[in-house]
Amino acid sequence: MIVEAAEGGAGVLRRFQGEEDAIRKVARLALEIVHVDPETGADLSDACVRGCYRCLLTYGNQASHQLIDRRLAVPVLLRLLGSTTLPGTPSEPPPTTMPPGPVAPVPETASAVQKALAYLVAHGLNQPAATASTVEGVPVDLVFPQARAVVVFIDTEREPKIDLDPLTFNGWEVMAWPPDDPFEDLVAAHPSVFGSVV
Ligand SMILES: [Zn+2]
Repeated sequence: MIVEAAEGGAGVLRRFQGEEDAIRKVARLALEIVHVDPETGADLSDACVRGCYRCLLTYGNQASHQLIDRRLAVPVLLRLLGSTTLPGTPSEPPPTTMPPGPVAPVPETASAVQKALAYLVAHGLNQPAATASTVEGVPVDLVFPQARAVVVFIDTEREPKIDLDPLTFNGWEVMAWPPDDPFEDLVAAHPSVFGSVV
């Protein structure tokens, strides 16, 4: 989480958003502050162990000194060092939650996605923002961006193995679900994604 300490902001967040190398520059300086060589990722010769008054400790954060460990930030900062900020596509509209109500019976021949959607509608649960979409280059069946969660229906008999690692590595909760398993079990196990069945 990045916050601006100045009341009303000093324009920093806007620069992070608008300049493709702003976060990279900040990551580089942050690494130097915590005694790490940005080129090698290694500690500098005068590095402290967890934190010192040259890097992260101040009198203002004395109450947190036991918790502060500069080493925990290094992997994240090294990743940000290689980042480029690009304009994204407009965000998806938020999923609409429809009130529960009578719905037409779903035919046996419906796809796993159609059955899942019908179940969510019938129980007044959260609807996905997208279906049959692609996230992090991986084809997925249901996308819940607010919860950073996706459902991939995997028919282990027929479909070749899909590599779900790009989703996991980018912080998505992945639910790889055999379509023959009861969808209600998946829903019940993840109320933060689907909402709760009342
Ligand atoms: Zn230090």
